[in-house]
Amino acid sequence: MRILIVDDEPAMHDSYRRSFAPTGHADAGALDAMAAELFGDDDDAPADTAPAMDFALTHAMQGLDGVAAIEKAIIDGDPFAVAFIDVRMPPGIDGKETATRIRALDPDINLVIVTGYSDFSPVEISKAAGPADKIFYIAKPFEVAEVTQTATALAHRWQVDRELAATRAALAEKILILEEQGLELAANESKAVHIANHDSLTEAPNRLAFLRTLAEKARGNDSFATAMVDLDRFKLVNDTLGHLAGDDLIRQICAVLQSSIPEGGMVARLGGDEFGLLFDSPGEQAACMACERLIKACSATFKIFGHSVQCGASAGFVFVEAGEKHDPVDVMRRADLALNDAKHSGRGVVRVFDDSMDESIRFRRRIEGGLGKSIEKGELSLVYQPIVAREGLEVIGFEALLRWNTEEFGPVSPSMFIPIAEESNLIHELGNWVLGEALKELKDWPGQYVSVNFSPRQFRRPNFIGHILECVQRAGVEPNRVQIEITETAIFDDADRAAETLYRLRQMGFRIALDDFGTGYSSLYNIRKFALDCLKIDRSFIDGMGRERESAAIVHSIIHLGRALGLGVIAEGVETDAQVMALRAAGASHLQGYYFSRPVDADIARAMALARFIPDPSGIEEEYLEPELGNGTRG
Ligand code: C2E
Ligand code: CA
Ligand code: CA
Repeated sequence: MRILIVDDEPAMHDSYRRSFAPTGHADAGALDAMAAELFGDDDDAPADTAPAMDFALTHAMQGLDGVAAIEKAIIDGDPFAVAFIDVRMPPGIDGKETATRIRALDPDINLVIVTGYSDFSPVEISKAAGPADKIFYIAKPFEVAEVTQTATALAHRWQVDRELAATRAALAEKILILEEQGLELAANESKAVHIANHDSLTEAPNRLAFLRTLAEKARGNDSFATAMVDLDRFKLVNDTLGHLAGDDLIRQICAVLQSSIPEGGMVARLGGDEFGLLFDSPGEQAACMACERLIKACSATFKIFGHSVQCGASAGFVFVEAGEKHDPVDVMRRADLALNDAKHSGRGVVRVFDDSMDESIRFRRRIEGGLGKSIEKGELSLVYQPIVAREGLEVIGFEALLRWNTEEFGPVSPSMFIPIAEESNLIHELGNWVLGEALKELKDWPGQYVSVNFSPRQFRRPNFIGHILECVQRAGVEPNRVQIEITETAIFDDADRAAETLYRLRQMGFRIALDDFGTGYSSLYNIRKFALDCLKIDRSFIDGMGRERESAAIVHSIIHLGRALGLGVIAEGVETDAQVMALRAAGASHLQGYYFSRPVDADIARAMALARFIPDPSGIEEEYLEPELGNGTRG
């Protein structure tokens, strides 16, 4: 730590030297004695007064020398912490002037003014060489301790101040950098958001933005139209005038659409020469007219790189009635189908979507029609898949699975026709048939239960309990031989009512299984309140067990927690030896799957039921094989 002494008396310099001499120095004792004499100090405990820090003293005999020393120190980058300045130093400048000049050079230094008798008032010097908290006074004669303690305290403070200043500066710099980075990030982010939502050629919203806006509209309460516009003969422009010309045409068309779309509407470029339009409209007629106006605006001559290009466009649109809820992707698909129809009908055409354009809708209609007659035509049948107890191969029940073999389509998978039946009232008719048939078959089995699938719609039907009870009683079957399979969807839409229904069914003795468990939203935690007998772990998890760690973990925790809740756990879709071993080890109470048996016809099921055990699976597969169904039969 550097200290500057400015004093015109050589003897004073000696005193300072001694004051700051490190303890244990050979002649410290002698020097101390001298200092004591000089400063009128009779304290003889130099060890106490010796400075705790290492000080390097610089001596100046005149004010100007002192100022020069400060200047040099600053240039050298090794500034002083403290300067002791005598007030009177003839013939040069006095202490006040010295202090003023030093302060001008070094705002951080601590000044100690050493006064004999008061030449200047402290206020005066502070004013000239302030700030006041960096100027101190010592009166002559002083004690060694006074000097060293003042120096030590001030040097400390000086050092702390410097460190603080350095930290502050570093912090300020960091903040600056952070602020810059923040600005840059914000700019990048908004750029990224813009890029993600806009088409780079036209700067119009892109497909993503279009779908998002469409989704918002579809949720809202206004009627609106969604249109797809496609240029006629665009390929020709690209092929004859080049891609740059094509790009230019796209930009111009985009601008035309933007200026002609009904107020508040959206024009998005979906890709290639295809645009998507969204606009509010009071009715289908008005929407159609708006589309026709837009197409007309596009059917014009455009100047492209000096060439005149005759352009035209076609449009297909869907009108969405206020309050109608639609899946946005489906709305787009329908608009696309309408556009397709428009393109097939010639150029410059506008078409509104209708159901006949939709192959899948047509197909559904045919399925629905066919299903309606399936019972009377005797096209339905049930197959039965055994459910075996964990240990050994005892058959404790069968799941009844519906089959539909049609003249028109051949065998149709239940995964295909059940959802269609579910959307109409047909599901009740089919469900009744299934239950009646299963109950008939059950009577030929010695004691096994039959597990029947019920769709959410059946389950929610008013008087579901009364209906099912009546069927069972009419068939003369004990309710405890009937297991009702329902899915999470069935119970979570109206959980309170479902809980009540399940409770009453279980009171009557029915068994309740929660089907496809793990695929829905429910957690084991919130199924507690439902009166269940068992969970059926969805076969996708069993299938994934050998491959993905998550599946195995999910299976394990379902089994574990299911059992903790006192529920049976049926693993379905068991196909391999390895799965059987893993599931047995994990503690699944029942197993079901191709490994044991495919779903089989009623007579084979009856034989299995009477035998009570299924033969060793390794030999069974061909014997009990259900004939393969057509496409997608594996649901
Ligand atoms: P689900 O209730 O999950 O039925 C199990 C499905 O997995 C059945 O398909 C069955 O044949 C198949 N399966 C069984 N073991 C295995 C296996 O080891 N590996 C593979 N890959 N699959 C196996 P299915 O018969 O095609 O039925 C499909 C879905 O149709 C059923 O799924 C059920 O949701 C529905 N369903 C079938 N019959 C009826 C019914 O009578 N009423 C209602 N509401 N739905 C039914
Ligand atoms: Ca099932
Ligand atoms: Ca299932």
